[in-house]
Amino acid sequence: MTVGIWVLGDQLWQGQAALVSRQGDRQFTPVILIESQHHVKQRPYHKQKLVLVWSAMRHFAEELKAAGWSVTYAIAPDFMSPLTQWVVDHHITELRVMEPNDRPLAQFLDGLELGCEIVRSPNNHFLWSRKAFDQWASRRKGLLMESFYREGRKRYEILMDGKDPVGGQWNFDKENRKPPKGEIHPPQPLWFEPDTITQTVMDRVDLADWPTFGAIAGFGWAVTRDQALQALDHFIHTRLTTFGPYQDAMVTGEDTLWHALLSPYLNLGLLQPLEVIQTVATAYQEADMPLNSVEGFIRQVLGWREYMHGIYHYVGADYPNRNFFDHHYPLPDWFWSGNTAMNCLHQTLDQIHRTGYGHHIQRLMILSNFALIAGLSPQAVEDWFHATFIDAYDWVMQTNVIGMGLFADGGVLATKPYAASANYINRMSDYCKSCRYNPKKRTGEDACPFNFFYWDFLARHRDTLKSQGRMNFILKNLDKMSGEEYEAIRQAAADWHQHDRV
Ligand SMILES: Cc1cc2nc3c(=O)[nH]c(=O)nc-3n(C[C@H](O)[C@H](O)[C@H](O)COP(=O)(O)OP(=O)(O)OC[C@H]3O[C@@H](n4cnc5c(N)ncnc54)[C@H](O)[C@@H]3O)c2cc1C
Ligand code: SF4
Repeated sequence: MTVGIWVLGDQLWQGQAALVSRQGDRQFTPVILIESQHHVKQRPYHKQKLVLVWSAMRHFAEELKAAGWSVTYAIAPDFMSPLTQWVVDHHITELRVMEPNDRPLAQFLDGLELGCEIVRSPNNHFLWSRKAFDQWASRRKGLLMESFYREGRKRYEILMDGKDPVGGQWNFDKENRKPPKGEIHPPQPLWFEPDTITQTVMDRVDLADWPTFGAIAGFGWAVTRDQALQALDHFIHTRLTTFGPYQDAMVTGEDTLWHALLSPYLNLGLLQPLEVIQTVATAYQEADMPLNSVEGFIRQVLGWREYMHGIYHYVGADYPNRNFFDHHYPLPDWFWSGNTAMNCLHQTLDQIHRTGYGHHIQRLMILSNFALIAGLSPQAVEDWFHATFIDAYDWVMQTNVIGMGLFADGGVLATKPYAASANYINRMSDYCKSCRYNPKKRTGEDACPFNFFYWDFLARHRDTLKSQGRMNFILKNLDKMSGEEYEAIRQAAADWHQHDRV
């Protein structure tokens, strides 16, 4: 019997389950990694995403070879042809692969016929296995992230003082989420000079004869585990202290503020969630880091990230098609070009074009907030996010965009839609200062589109939103609006769509 292992592009860790299962027999275990062009032609991916994934795969193949594995690295039009050839060449009788995170790839494996047995090792890239999440979820009426997070803190003994949370509270949000007032000087993130492997991939992607998105120049993402560990260390020593207070702030020209920039590495397997959480928790104990920032960060990885992954596998396969508000407007072209007079959107889109990165509040309160209140199709928006972000994968896209950003799942994971007017953006950013629109105005020539779309959204879905208890306060304000003003708002929203305004 010959066992061969197929390592998928987001499973780049020597401790991943399929490799671990054959660690002692590595010299007799052929391993394959495949760059499939078919896979990347599904949507116009950001060039830096392609470089990141392919360069990280090529580096990982070298790492495996150095560790004594016998590795085949295939660059091919699709997965099937190199897999079939490799199985024949190496007389493989059992193909072992770690269970994919993404449903489309799992479905591909379901239908795979190679004339050998196919064995799927349970995925070990998350703290919570799918089984453990299902057990947690099936015992509950509601699936609140907060309850899940507290359970995770206890289960993995993170920031715990016996049975109680360290500091006496589970959450220090009151000390966080400050608006960006005065001079803001965040530290530079750690970027890496492309080496020969990365440069070769950059040349290939630059010459791509299929549609792609974004700029390739300035690529500086980590492409090895060693570099990703350096990025983690750099975050802890230069950014973690101020992570909490400015977590929700947005500042022109400051793409990353105090954010960690670790999602691309966690999602590829270059970093593991438990090591990230434990390293940050240790920094709290040993280097006296502020608890509001430490807890705020750990909540993101131990709470939100694990929760989103668990929910993705817990909900049905129809989840991506959900459209609770029945929204169908197509994605405006300026989502791709960035050519819009709305400065908050222009700045965010320009940044994504340059880097593939936007931080959480840009994603949630600028991009998906606009898409939600303007009534854009959730599936078109999800596809756009998936194409343009450096850290996008099916498992993390569906729950974040369809669920959290657009409430298209009707409230599986959010207790109310994240809809907001210009008020929020004006408070949490400096974007409105340089905008052609007026954040204070709801109607008139210079009225901010976030305002008329917001009130129009509330009015259009008034009855549905009434059943979401947390919306009642804001709906009372809608009731106070005069019929005349509401009519002007409704007209402004309709005109916007009719005339393809920007
Ligand atoms: C509409 C929308 C789309 C998103 N798309 C993605 C995506 O494609 N890929 C992705 O990894 N995250 C996505 N997120 C979650 C989050 O915005 C990013 O993980 C985060 O901005 C990554 O940047 P960072 O590493 O600097 O994060 P930080 O702000 O420094 O947070 C630390 C870490 O927490 C984790 N995290 C925090 N929130 C989430 C979450 N909701 N889901 C998953 N992980 C989380 C990430 O691993 C992140 O690295 C999305 C959120 C929204 C609202
Ligand atoms: S005024 Fe409106 S469109 Fe302009 S930056 Fe502010 S919120 Fe965005």
